Amino acid sequence: MMVARKELSPQGAKDVEKKTNFAHKVASSSPAQIKSSTWLDEHNRKVGAGSGSRLEWEKQREPKLSPVAHTGIRNLGNTCYMNAIVQLLTAISGFTQDLCAAELAWRTGCPDPATSGNPTILGALCKIVGQVNLTQRSSPVDPSALREAISKRSDRFGGWSQQDAHEFFRLLLNWLEEDFESRGDDTKANPVTEHFRFNVRHTWKCDRCHQESSSVEPFYDISMDIPERQGTWTLADLLGQFFRSEQVEKTCEKCQCTTASVQHEVLTLPKVLVLHMKRFVPDMALQIYKKCFYPVRIDQHLHIGRVCADKLEASGAHSEVPKPYYKLHGIVRHVGATMAVGHYVADTKAADGTWTHFNDAIAFKFESRDLQSPERQNNVYLAMYALCT
Ligand SMILES: [Zn+2]
Repeated sequence: MMVARKELSPQGAKDVEKKTNFAHKVASSSPAQIKSSTWLDEHNRKVGAGSGSRLEWEKQREPKLSPVAHTGIRNLGNTCYMNAIVQLLTAISGFTQDLCAAELAWRTGCPDPATSGNPTILGALCKIVGQVNLTQRSSPVDPSALREAISKRSDRFGGWSQQDAHEFFRLLLNWLEEDFESRGDDTKANPVTEHFRFNVRHTWKCDRCHQESSSVEPFYDISMDIPERQGTWTLADLLGQFFRSEQVEKTCEKCQCTTASVQHEVLTLPKVLVLHMKRFVPDMALQIYKKCFYPVRIDQHLHIGRVCADKLEASGAHSEVPKPYYKLHGIVRHVGATMAVGHYVADTKAADGTWTHFNDAIAFKFESRDLQSPERQNNVYLAMYALCT
């Protein structure tokens, strides 16, 4: 990690929508972008079902459906990124329970905003979570109300083009957190802050006089590079890379030396740790993001002690500091060759420990050992872990 680099500016979700990316450019209207859009449309016609729909080859390999703990979500047209993120969040029952309890308390005495023709993102999301959790439900869940609520907050994510699942995840958390903050009720914990937010401390040390200075930065997830190398990365390796100390240019207030080393440490532990693998690498010449397929092993248990401060601090209302052990609850994979013409699917763990694969409306169980299949290791995009308590 290097705080001097642009992409490592505060990880708080506040500035996500301002982030420049090629998908965003495609959605606007300069001549080059129109060209990209035309090319994309052409490509989508060739692949047949549209970039966010299930790919033909993916359909062919689906095993016979087996009973599942949860229900799939209908694709409204390039909404696989939204469906995959909703399934991922649903796998963190502690978070969704807090979210939906707060939403219920909020609208007590008020008409249900999810059905009154004026849906809120929170109301619509809670409704979907409830429907996804209905084990006996025979038809896929309709996410139209959520999409409609999102379209009121973001033109781009309310449109019909494929979007980045990680960017959507960050925005969704941001919208939910803002909605809670806007209520101005300090007596209740904000479920987003409570579950996802954590602090990282950066400590600079002057190369000459060793004067130290530090700052604390809030994070909601960790967005990690996947450097090229032989063999398979582990998530612990990638975290180690992200948090490695490095040399930076920084002027010392004491001796005016212009170089320093900087160390980064996790200072408080999130209840839910989300790890994003940067599989889309910009190719400036072609003006596209290229996808890298370097394999990453998806461990069911993750110990992040090596990137934590020696003395972890308690967070929120909790006085005890837990140990930095995490259990995997779900992943989102990106299937396909490029950012623009791919498809997102989710694999999540149910409360009984079984794993379910979600491909929009399709859901089927699979064995946990298949988490290490090459297809999953080469395409894993987000991994969501819950703190062991
Ligand atoms: Zn100095």
